Formats: sequence, C-alpha cells, structure tokens
Amino acid sequence: MTRSDDGDGQAEVRVECVPVPVGMGTPGGTTNAYVIDVPEGRDRRRILVDPAARADDLDAVAFGGGTDGRDFDAAGLDAIAVTHTHPDHVGAVAAYAAETDATVYAHADHVNRFRGATGIEPDATIADGDVLESDAVGVLETPGHAPDGLSFVVDSEGNGVAFEASNGTEAEHQADSGSIIVGDLAVASGSVAVAAPDGDLADYLESLERLRDRNAARLWPGHGPPIWDPEATSTRLIEHRLDRERRILEAIEDGASDVDAILEAAYAKDLTGVEDLARRTVVAHVEKLVSEGRIDRSWESATGR
Ligand SMILES: [Zn+2]
Repeated sequence: MTRSDDGDGQAEVRVECVPVPVGMGTPGGTTNAYVIDVPEGRDRRRILVDPAARADDLDAVAFGGGTDGRDFDAAGLDAIAVTHTHPDHVGAVAAYAAETDATVYAHADHVNRFRGATGIEPDATIADGDVLESDAVGVLETPGHAPDGLSFVVDSEGNGVAFEASNGTEAEHQADSGSIIVGDLAVASGSVAVAAPDGDLADYLESLERLRDRNAARLWPGHGPPIWDPEATSTRLIEHRLDRERRILEAIEDGASDVDAILEAAYAKDLTGVEDLARRTVVAHVEKLVSEGRIDRSWESATGR
C-alpha cells in the first residue's frame, strides 16, 4: 500500500493506494484501487476510485480503520467512481455500492457503457470541470486508452482545484501541487494499451498533453507504482506513440499493404503472445493517420474495418 502524506496532518487530503488482485491479463495481476480521504476541516468525504475487486485490504481502508489501524471515521464511503469501465477496473463497483450508501458516479457521456460494465445504475454523472463529491477533487476528461477515460485531480493543499475550463476561459493552472488519479492513461514504466476498438490515439495524445499541462506533483496510475515525474513520464509516453506512428507510416510508405506487413516492418521484436494487441494497436494508428489525411482512405479496407 502506498499513501500520500506530506506530513502536514489534518488539512491534507490523503490518497491511499490499494493494489487488488484481478487475475491474469493485467500488468502485475493487480489494479490499484484508491481511497481519497478529504479531512474533517474540509467537509469530510471518503471517495473510492476503481474498486477492481473485493479485497480485505480494500475493505479495511474503504470502511474505516485502515490496515495500520489509522483512525478513520468508520462512516463508510460517500462516493464511488471509476477512471474508465474496462473490466479490470470495475469488478467490485456493485459490491461496494451494495454495502454502503455511497453515491455512484458515471461519466455523463457514457452511462450505458457504465451500466453494462458494472451491472448497476449510477446515482449521478460527472463531466469535465465538475468536482467529484468534494471541491477537493476535480474531474478531467482524459479519453484515449478508453473512450470514457476520466482523471481525478486531488488538491492536497487546501486551495480548491483550479481548472482550465474546456472552453478555454479561466485558464488557471495549479503548478506543482496536488496529485492526479489517472487510471490507464499513464504508467511509471513501459506503456499502456491504446488499441482498437476502444483506443483512440489522437485523443490519447491530447489527454497526455492535458495531463502534462496540469503540472501535478504526482500521478497515481491504474497499475504499478506512483509516478513522481509527471511531466517527464507524459513526455516519454507521447514520444513513444509518435515514434511508433513514424515507424508505421514508414512501413506503409515502403509498401506494406496490410496489417500483417505493417506488424512485420514496424515492430522489431517477437510478438508471440501479444500479437492481437499489436494488431489492434496498428489499427488504431492507421485510423489516426487516415483521419488526419496522412495516408489514403483506401487503407481503411486494409484494416478490415
Ligand atoms: Zn483499461
């Protein structure tokens, strides 16, 4: 378990990370669930993010007490939200909702998808620029890995969350403070999947740039350890995508005429075991290149879509 605690005591909004086992097919076999603890002085709220599976550790943190006996009010949860609705992030939304009076939030534009993934009806919806249950937690729409991607901006300094409104007015950045729960938008090492049909590379790059512009002190990813260098990591992930894009474009310009030929030319490594993902990644790249008019639309047929 990892916890943010800058040592300042009462006024700090705390974020507690609880990796829960979700089985195969997920990096490390675990997904990070988070409990955001907004303290007494700021209208106490406890918010559970990405309850991927029911787990004793998560129960202990979510329902009070904490695994180290830290003194939470045993009042349970006020809210439940997810960074996106992939199966390895939503497995216990229904279970935790059933055991508490928590308000269950869904992305306003993807309520059907939320219903389908969790099996329950949300109580409320959130969209870009909203706050999640407390003015200490802001909502950023960050699609790309998944169409319903959301990030949660946690203000640890007690200033309220400053937002750059999506219409461009009130551009106000909160430099070097707070942290952001980003789901599968970023990881500390390696890269995340941005693959057809859910992935959208143009959206993904835009979301990473948005994330980088926030200049947060740290990012809390859906898998693996916290990210302490948000700007460098965002840049690294952007570069990784652009590099892949260059190689795919080169392969096409060199005459690769279907996805298999692109795979062979653009991926220098053995793809055993990840070929399906690589194939869907290529399709996502080709879709972006076509939509930007950088390759001919006839490529759409080559991707089988
Ligand atoms: Zn995901």
